[in-house]
Amino acid sequence: MSDDAIVDIIRLCLDIDTKAEALYRDMAARFGRNEIGSFFDEMCGAERQHIAFWNDLLHMAEEGMIPQVFDHPHKVIAELQAVGSRIESLIDQYHGLFPTNEAFLISFRLEFYLLHPALETLFHYGKTIEGATGLQSPLEEYESHIDKFISALNRLGNVSPEMELVGESLKTLWQENRSLTRLTNVDQLTGVLNRRGFLHAVQPLSHLAQRNAFDIGVLMIDIDHFKKINDTYGHQAGDEVLVRVAASIKSSLRISDLVGRYGGEEFIVFMPEVRVQAMRQVAEKARRSVEAVRPRDIPVTVSIGGASSRIGQRVNQDVENLIKQADDRLYQAKREGRNRVLT
Ligand code: GH3
Ligand code: MG
Ligand code: MG
Repeated sequence: MSDDAIVDIIRLCLDIDTKAEALYRDMAARFGRNEIGSFFDEMCGAERQHIAFWNDLLHMAEEGMIPQVFDHPHKVIAELQAVGSRIESLIDQYHGLFPTNEAFLISFRLEFYLLHPALETLFHYGKTIEGATGLQSPLEEYESHIDKFISALNRLGNVSPEMELVGESLKTLWQENRSLTRLTNVDQLTGVLNRRGFLHAVQPLSHLAQRNAFDIGVLMIDIDHFKKINDTYGHQAGDEVLVRVAASIKSSLRISDLVGRYGGEEFIVFMPEVRVQAMRQVAEKARRSVEAVRPRDIPVTVSIGGASSRIGQRVNQDVENLIKQADDRLYQAKREGRNRVLT
């Protein structure tokens, strides 16, 4: 055990997928060169990709680049250890003597154990640092892994209604896990990251920027006189304005930039690689794009404060300072008359 719980958690995930890979490799070898053998071979290949992903993530965690994304890390550790020993006992049970259906049932149990939300959370997390990891898009990759599993279950197994049900419930569980992660990281009204999701996603990106000596940029965007909009047009219209403003901001940014809803009517943007000139232009573009929309014919404007700089050794501290600077400039923009950008 290390003194960093996130490192331990990632090591356990690596260990679990390593065991899964071994089991699938064994099954592939026993079924040989037929359709079933090649299916298990494919599952084995997918596990190898997951292993590469965990190795990348572990490497980053060991360098302190992955924040603690779990609220109760020690509970997660205990659960993952239990998953690991369940998989070990599955391996003990499997001696290659089982007919097809039983092999599928064992692999179903394996996939079921692999649905632990910690793995899904970290896959989701890996998605925010795409390019920094071995998998192009870990979440989509995992979903197609499950889809392949279910379709093989239906195609190759001499499927009983129970087995079919089992396949369907696996898919449902996966989707429920996934929407749970969304619930905790994404703002339900506007679809952009919530404060928690934003701060989580910023961490690895700012560490990467520090390593590569990129300038990062932060924008704080606040809707002008939003209280008046609510009072004049009603709360529901206010909500619609929030949705449209979020969309306008997003459309003004690069896909690699992050947008979060930081407070009630306040948004935050993180640009992982930016030039000072470009940041000003992007902010101005966002300001004009909000002004142009007029949802329900309501005139809406925003004030924007921006700050950018190189990140030093104290990454989190530096990012915090940058957010504070952007916030100060936002309030200055408000004092100077609103509907303007100050960087
Ligand atoms: P300023 O230009 O100085 O920013 O003024 P303001 O009225 O925008 O700022 P203030 O902070 O006084 O008001 C923010 C308002 O945002 C108050 C709150 O009721 C409203 N608000 C916060 N969250 C929501 C929401 O989810 N939906 C709606 N409709 N209103 C919200
Ligand atoms: Mg406001
Ligand atoms: Mg505000």
